[in-house]
Amino acid sequence: MPRDTDGPSVQGLLKDIFGFDAFRPGQGEIVEAVAAGENVLAIMPTGGGKSLCFQLPALVRPGVTVVISPLIALMRDQVRGLREAGVAAGALTSGNTQDETDAVWDMLHAGELKLLYLAPERLASAGTQRMLAQAGVSLIAVDEAHCVSQWGHDFRPDYLRIGELRRALGVPLAAFTATADVETQEEMVSRLFDGAAPRTFLRGFDRPNIHLAFQPKDGPRAQVLAFGGARRGQSGIVYCGTRAKTEGIARALREDGHSACHYHGGMEADDRRHVEERFAREDGLIVCATVAFGMGVDKPDIRWVAHADLPKSIESYYQEIGRAGRDGAPAETMTLYGPEDIRLRRTQIDEGMAPPERRAADHGRLNALLGLAEALGCRRQALLAYFGETAEPCGNCDLCDTPPEVFDGTEAVRKALSAALRTQESFGAGHLIDILTGRDTDKVTQRGHDKLPTFGVGKDLSKGQWQAVFRQMMGRDLIRPDAERHGALVMTDRALPILRGEERVSLRKDVLSKAADRRPAVK
Ligand code: ADP
Ligand code: ZN
Repeated sequence: MPRDTDGPSVQGLLKDIFGFDAFRPGQGEIVEAVAAGENVLAIMPTGGGKSLCFQLPALVRPGVTVVISPLIALMRDQVRGLREAGVAAGALTSGNTQDETDAVWDMLHAGELKLLYLAPERLASAGTQRMLAQAGVSLIAVDEAHCVSQWGHDFRPDYLRIGELRRALGVPLAAFTATADVETQEEMVSRLFDGAAPRTFLRGFDRPNIHLAFQPKDGPRAQVLAFGGARRGQSGIVYCGTRAKTEGIARALREDGHSACHYHGGMEADDRRHVEERFAREDGLIVCATVAFGMGVDKPDIRWVAHADLPKSIESYYQEIGRAGRDGAPAETMTLYGPEDIRLRRTQIDEGMAPPERRAADHGRLNALLGLAEALGCRRQALLAYFGETAEPCGNCDLCDTPPEVFDGTEAVRKALSAALRTQESFGAGHLIDILTGRDTDKVTQRGHDKLPTFGVGKDLSKGQWQAVFRQMMGRDLIRPDAERHGALVMTDRALPILRGEERVSLRKDVLSKAADRRPAVK
């Protein structure tokens, strides 16, 4: 459960250096403790995001942080990543060339280095020990800390020197591992910390009392009113993508008899504080807010959280819904998503200033979120899997409540791809759907698209159903809007095996029928 007590500088570094919008579960608290100089033992599942928990504090702390890791390839990767982000990092491993080693020593002597990665064998050398004693080390981080345990099969004798190094330098130590069994834990405490209990973080990411649900966007104001209406008198948060929307939805809720107000970064500090205080004090207040709301909100009995717009990433989603039900009592969430959200996020990523690799990673993270939105099985399982945890179907999400019906959507997807390809990938979903459903609009006839073999081949589905197909295709990153050409849909490499008939696609049926033709969602 992230607590958002992180100060602005930590949050700023998270975004500016690492390119993340939000902490992963558990990260915020660990970063805070490590940055504050506590001794920490953190047990996190693989893929949970351990490295950030020492990399970020290293930037906040003075001097250099020594990182001990047994995995040379991984160290080199991390050093490269940090350097690309403008962080002074270096590694001393057996794989170094002499030049590399010299450069690292130079940076260290000049007091410029922020992170020094060391292979454990290095600790055996008296030279290394002497060098570290003079280098202004302010933190030792130990990756794969279970290697200090003779119980496990990963035992590394050199890890036994780490406790000694900590004593010699007299600095805090943060140990990380994914191995949680009791014997290993005890051994890590005794060997790394001399038995003085470090602050220990061991928590699964699951928040089982929070009900998870997503809905395709189909009139967000009405959907939020319906959701809030069923929870009258309970405290809730409605997260909105824009400031204007926070005001509009708050007004609509008030007109519907709720006690509701808005909150966003454009408000005066006094007004924001006023809302925070009211929310903490009053029962049954609804705050319609941008993501600016949350820092410092620590109300235990928030009973529901709704997203009127798609969150930025799974991390943001988890953090925002995680504000509900901190008292452990049942809480409900509902997250709306639509093709406009997807298009907006893709455009933001493409038009952002980030370097290409980071943009690709951002697209990947968005895909993961969309995959969660249109998951085929238990939503919690999918959510926890993203954070590296395995779980049984939860019985407390919309997809466990009502398993989605799926159908073989391969033909529909191939027709859609063919419509895009035959029009040189130059059009958005609206026009492609007109072609597929055989509508002879002016735009279709002027361009001669009524002569295409694809014209009218998709009459078996309605416009609304085609929108759902396109949305799911975007969600799985089979097609992507091209930012430079106003959202013209372009096929991605992932779609190739489907087009070639090597892979089939399952699509969700319910999403298809719910995305009725009441409201045109794709233009
Ligand atoms: P671990 O060492 O725990 O297995 P890593 O530190 O390698 O995990 O992180 C796993 C992945 O999670 C990496 O791809 C990393 O970029 C990503 N990650 C870590 N923290 C965040 C975050 N706050 N938001 C988004 N992605 C993150
Ligand atoms: Zn479930």
